Amino acid sequence: MKLVLATRNIGKVQEFNDMLSNQSGVEVQCMKDFPDAPEVLEDGETYQANAKKKAVHVAKYSGILALADDSGLEVDALGGAPGVHSARYAGSDASDADRIAKLLAALRHVPDNERNGRFKCAVAVASPGGRTDVVVGVCDGSIIREPRGELGFGYDPVFVPNGFNQSFAELGEQVKNRISHRAKALNMALKLIKDTYMPMR
Ligand code: IMP
Repeated sequence: MKLVLATRNIGKVQEFNDMLSNQSGVEVQCMKDFPDAPEVLEDGETYQANAKKKAVHVAKYSGILALADDSGLEVDALGGAPGVHSARYAGSDASDADRIAKLLAALRHVPDNERNGRFKCAVAVASPGGRTDVVVGVCDGSIIREPRGELGFGYDPVFVPNGFNQSFAELGEQVKNRISHRAKALNMALKLIKDTYMPMR
């Protein structure tokens, strides 16, 4: 069964590809295989709405099963910010370093025991025939005071998952792809695809 990953974020494509590499019966394609597909505006109020919008759009455009995610980092001391706006937290042209700098500045006066947060990821699956499902994965942790590590993407250098002493950017893909918000949501989505979408073919 062909499945297109409806994201242009290189970090996410890498993670999805790693996690999907041992899935038999699933042939993974990416947006590079559909270079003329129009961009989808992520204007929803929730991760679920944005993921669903992207998956439905790409399934219709490509004619094959589409999988999309929308994710973000929620920090308790900031009332859940940056949340669904994580990618644009420091403006639309900002870099990962800019977003991290803004986050650390906002948390400058927050003590170590109040720096809890979590990554959330909604994964939507959509068929060209119009069926859609959305699942959500969560990874709890805390925000450290300085970036640590070179691996991963986004806020990985400042996020330490609960039960570990290293940041996602230090832990690397093997650990991250086992415990992350995206891994949890993807595993739920894969079960759905196998149980529901594959028999439908
Ligand atoms: P979107 O899902 O494309 O809207 O982007 C979500 C944003 O949240 C990303 O650009 C990152 O800044 C952040 N983010 C989501 N998942 C992760 C992750 O696994 N590690 C680090 N940052 C992430």
